[in-house]
Amino acid sequence: MILDKFGLKDKVAIVTGSNTGLGQGICRAYVEAGAKVVGVSRRPSDETAAQCGKNFHNVIADLFSLDVIPTVIGETLEKFGRIDVLVNNAGIIKRQESIEFSEEDWDSVLNVNLKTVFFLTQAVAKQFIKQNSGGKVINIASMLSYQGGIRAPSYTASKSAIKGVTMTLANEWAKYGINVNGIAPGYMATNNTQNLRQDEERSSDILARIPAGRWGTPEDLQGAAVFLASSASDYVNGFTLAVDGGWLGR
Ligand code: NAP
Repeated sequence: MILDKFGLKDKVAIVTGSNTGLGQGICRAYVEAGAKVVGVSRRPSDETAAQCGKNFHNVIADLFSLDVIPTVIGETLEKFGRIDVLVNNAGIIKRQESIEFSEEDWDSVLNVNLKTVFFLTQAVAKQFIKQNSGGKVINIASMLSYQGGIRAPSYTASKSAIKGVTMTLANEWAKYGINVNGIAPGYMATNNTQNLRQDEERSSDILARIPAGRWGTPEDLQGAAVFLASSASDYVNGFTLAVDGGWLGR
């Protein structure tokens, strides 16, 4: 039955940035679809744990550094025995005019949004290959994977790069049955956009450009996140799917 292909029964997923926003919504969707979920967060994911129940396990780790990668993989294997899905959702943004932009704001964003994503994915892919049963990687990209934006140069660099690297990894690992894809959220009402939504002028400019006429929510991302984690997407490789209320088409 086609709907069975969308299920995640007994799959084990790692979702980074699980304490809030889009990551929290993805954890909830995966548990509802039958998966066991390891949420990685630098602050405790207590609210997510309460929403998800016993099939959720929280690993506390600061993804600024690569040092935490063995802990993330080790705790997942210890708790649930295998890994089937990795969602690279944790991400930060620093907003400032490019003319004033600091090295610190460049490096912190590139570390969390790109460098750790690459090396965590590499470590998980080694586990997928060891298990010999394929796997799914979903990288959370952005509208700024396609557009330049303003006042967020390191974020644009990281999100443009992640779309490219998604294709590289998909090309190299399709032969192992590993699907690497991305989701590019549009403008979503989370902590990431709090400052933007508080800026009346920017907020109304953005809203006026979204054909759907509203900011997105974590729930809006759940369908794409489940699809790309499930066997319904087994022949989808290297694609970044926009979930944006029509923003990119405008
Ligand atoms: P959010 O509410 O700010 O969530 C970001 C998540 O990443 C939080 O859980 C955050 O933890 C975590 N994180 C940040 N730095 C981390 C670190 N060093 N180690 C571990 N976890 C860390 O924003 P969101 O909107 O849900 O963002 C999720 C993803 O979607 C990000 O990659 C973002 O760039 C992307 N995105 C968002 C939008 C949007 O409109 N909201 C649009 C396009 C793309 P803390 O709570 O501890 O900071």
